Amino acid sequence: MMEKTLSIIKPDGVSRNLMGDVIGRLEKEGLKIGAIKMIRMNKAQAKGFYKVHEGKPFFESVTDFMSSGPCVVMILEGENVIFRYRELMGATNFKDAAEGTIRRDFATDIEKNVVHGSDSPENADIEINYFFNALEIP
Ligand code: GDP
Repeated sequence: MMEKTLSIIKPDGVSRNLMGDVIGRLEKEGLKIGAIKMIRMNKAQAKGFYKVHEGKPFFESVTDFMSSGPCVVMILEGENVIFRYRELMGATNFKDAAEGTIRRDFATDIEKNVVHGSDSPENADIEINYFFNALEIP
């Protein structure tokens, strides 16, 4: 199924100069980047993005982190891209992530895990529209 997904290189990935490594892995895997830009969320915008996690013990911390510096946001397109990109990212906790995944190779912490990817078509649509306007969405 042709899908779109929202990918983020989180502030740790940008500040540690891992943009090229992450984008290189996407390209090598044949995932098409349909849109890309650098943004910086304020605290309220980070809370809006991670609204589903409101009330969880890590909510304050993860929204502080996501608003701590610039992120790269991308729309990836292709067959089954939501699952394929989640596979490439690896598990949320890098300690559980499979060998060769982005998180296993680059994450330093359960929170500072370098990348985000939508987990369903419904969330991909919501997240893409959170960051991109109609002129930018392929
Ligand atoms: P993802 O879809 O794999 O990114 O995972 P989730 O949607 O469950 O969590 C969103 C983000 O919150 C993760 O990528 C982490 O940055 C952070 N996070 C998740 N679980 C924890 C946790 O137990 N502790 C902390 N500090 N951060 C967490």
